[in-house]
Amino acid sequence: MPENPRANIPPGAGTDVIVIGAGLAGLMAAAQATQAGARVRVIANGWGQQIVSPGWISVCDRADDDVIAEVRGYAAIHPDHPYALAEDDAMVRGIEAFRNVAQQNGQPYDMRDKDGHNLRLMTALGAIQRPMLAPRGMANGDLTGVGGPVLLVGFTGWRDFFPALAIDNLRAAGVEARAVCIDLPANPSGTWDLWPGDVARLFDGADFRAAVSGRIKPHAKGAVKVGLPAVLGLENPVEALADLSEQIGAPVFEIPTLPPSMAGVRLSNALRRWLMRHRARVQVGHPVVRGVVANGRCTHVEVGALGHTNPFYADQFILATGGLYNGGILSDETGRLWEPLFDLPVATPPGDGREGWYGERLLQERGHPIHRLAGLRANKQMQPLGQDGGPALENVYAVGHLLAGFNPLTDGCAEGIALATAYKAVQTALQLDE
Ligand SMILES: Cc1cc2nc3c(=O)[nH]c(=O)nc-3n(C[C@H](O)[C@H](O)[C@H](O)COP(=O)(O)OP(=O)(O)OC[C@H]3O[C@@H](n4cnc5c(N)ncnc54)[C@H](O)[C@@H]3O)c2cc1C
Repeated sequence: MPENPRANIPPGAGTDVIVIGAGLAGLMAAAQATQAGARVRVIANGWGQQIVSPGWISVCDRADDDVIAEVRGYAAIHPDHPYALAEDDAMVRGIEAFRNVAQQNGQPYDMRDKDGHNLRLMTALGAIQRPMLAPRGMANGDLTGVGGPVLLVGFTGWRDFFPALAIDNLRAAGVEARAVCIDLPANPSGTWDLWPGDVARLFDGADFRAAVSGRIKPHAKGAVKVGLPAVLGLENPVEALADLSEQIGAPVFEIPTLPPSMAGVRLSNALRRWLMRHRARVQVGHPVVRGVVANGRCTHVEVGALGHTNPFYADQFILATGGLYNGGILSDETGRLWEPLFDLPVATPPGDGREGWYGERLLQERGHPIHRLAGLRANKQMQPLGQDGGPALENVYAVGHLLAGFNPLTDGCAEGIALATAYKAVQTALQLDE
């Protein structure tokens, strides 16, 4: 057998940065490190929460006026909040970097550039959410100051979006709306039970779009906008959107459906392709089992394979493992919380066991302590803190949902935090500001 020249080279040798996690935080950290010229490897169990969330970017949902000004004000009086740690430069640049990368990949994200206010977008149930940016299809559905009726379109018999359910909530929010269900044109694949991905692929076809438009157009008279479930194309949603709008004769927008989220799938595909085109390695489906540490630095991570682990080496490690929702922090019936890869200290709600995890009422304004308090504390370089309050490890950074100090359920800023902290971690890991 010829000798394998790479036999003695450990996997990942020659890698500058390993990013653990393929959520928004991990993918954007990887993209920015790659743009800065680093050799990057993403290793993740699976895709992150973008696969099931609406796909828009919440920076500070509660802001009534200028969103960035509101975040700056909030960060100034909450020094432990991840926005304060990352600092506002990181927030603004993280958002910019995200928009650029998404745009380069045919996934434009739009916002109200004129006044910096949040959008007013409808959910599948017609409630109003106020993210700052959204994929173009959803941003087209901004209901700010909308005059005249909005038409909501569903597909007869399709279980993932029922426009009639949304109508009452929309009207309660002051939006005039009406709903209709159309039969989808014959389904060429013959599948009886279409998933959002199946419908999205159908919408990639021009003939299919023409047939759908023909069925919607008679109902669209007088409508100022026409909303369809967010399945308008998988590969080329911008073209699908423009084509449908033109043929129907009114601007078309997308409404989030039940998971999986096509907006999240499009974004994940686009970022993965972008990373691979720029020679980063992307391994999705591979669990990191532990980080190996010597002299206060991580030397490598061990990655699960069939019956054994493989070591992957790098200079810097960005931990983007998503906190309690995605395996970044684990818990058991005793209420213990732990970080499984480096055994980093985890901020925990006060009280014994799980007693302190929840408040009295299911729905309470600031949410439950377990969601707000559980996570890793970090310094301004995004290094997780050790027991002594100093950085736990010299070359490990924590980003996104994994961090303590905000409540992803009630604060409406989880995606903004993912972008800001990813940006800051890359700046410090690669010493880009110096
Ligand atoms: C249904 C839903 C709706 C949401 N809506 C909103 C909203 O409207 N506004 C808002 O602000 N936020 C919302 N969020 C939250 C927001 O989407 C996330 O907080 C944000 O995307 C943060 O992502 P992240 O990259 O930090 O982590 P995640 O997306 O959780 O990614 C974590 C990654 O780490 C990987 N991982 C974990 N452990 C390991 C390991 N040991 N080895 C390898 N990989 C590992 C996972 O596989 C995954 O790829 C929503 C979330 C959900 C689920």
